[in-house]
Parts: sequence; structure tokens; C-alpha cells
Amino acid sequence: MICGWFNNIINNVYLIQENIYTIRMKIIEYNKWEIEYDDYLTQKVYKSLTSGPEDCVCENCKNFLLAREDFYPEDFKKVLNQLGVDSKKEVEITWFNRIKPGWHLYSGWFHFVGNILKIPQFGYKTIYEQAPEFKNFAWDFSVRKHLISSAFEQNPVVQLEWIGLVSWVIDLPEPS
Ligand SMILES: [Zn+2]
Repeated sequence: MICGWFNNIINNVYLIQENIYTIRMKIIEYNKWEIEYDDYLTQKVYKSLTSGPEDCVCENCKNFLLAREDFYPEDFKKVLNQLGVDSKKEVEITWFNRIKPGWHLYSGWFHFVGNILKIPQFGYKTIYEQAPEFKNFAWDFSVRKHLISSAFEQNPVVQLEWIGLVSWVIDLPEPS
């Protein structure tokens, strides 16, 4: 009897939590993507995350950390903020090559709690294919998911990726 009563309570709690969860999801639309997200839960998860480039000792990451503040466009930071993402905690970044003296091609990505509801019918396979529109910075959602932190637990996760030209600001010789 006691066991059954206990299970009943657990089930009720679960149901209530599920309802809260459903209510909390908001929707963002971008480039024909439709994505539901939970900024509240994402913010909570980010408190326990560290940043990939900050955990790295390589010169390309060190340069990125020095350049980052001026690098991310304000509009992009607003989107991250809306999603509950801390813009200083990339999962990981990648350095590709020097495009011209003082300017280097990097990409990086973030995760947040959410679900993809609609994928663009004509989607870019990779963000590189945005090249015609690409000036110094581009971002997009992705169906890929790389290196999801265990801090997200069982929550659904969506990946957001960017690519951009980062200035070489560190007082070290530029790689080519
Ligand atoms: Zn590195």
C-alpha cells in the first residue's frame, strides 16, 4: 500500500514537472528554422559549464579569447542571451587558416536545451555554403551535435554554429 501511494506521488510530481517543462519552451524562428528552446534550463546548465577555448592552451585559442569581446556582433550576442546561452562558454572553437594578414578564419559552436521543430527545406549543408552572404561573421542552427556536456543530462539539445574572421590581437607571430 505504501509503495503504491509513493509511486502515485512520484507520478504526479513527474506530470507536474512535465507540464511546467512544456509551458516553459519558447519558439525562435531563423533562416526558416523553427526551434523551441528553454532559456531558463539552459541558463542553469551553463552555470556548471566551462569554455572549450579557455580550457585549451594553444595560441589560436588564446588569441580568440583576447579578440572575442569585439568579435561577436551585438545581434548575435542578443540571440545567445535570448536562448540562455553564455557567450563566453563555447563548447569548442576551430581555427582554420589566415585569410589575410591580421585576419583568421575560426568557427565555433554552442548548445542549448531545445528541439528542432522545422528544418529549412533548402538548408545549407554547412555554414561555409553561406559564403555568398558571408562577410565577417555568419551563424546558423545545425542538425549536428558534437561534444554535448553531461551537464545537459537527459534534456534535448540543439547546436548553434558560427564562422567568422577573427583579428590576430595576441603578441605572438601569426600562424598561416
Ligand atoms: Zn586551442
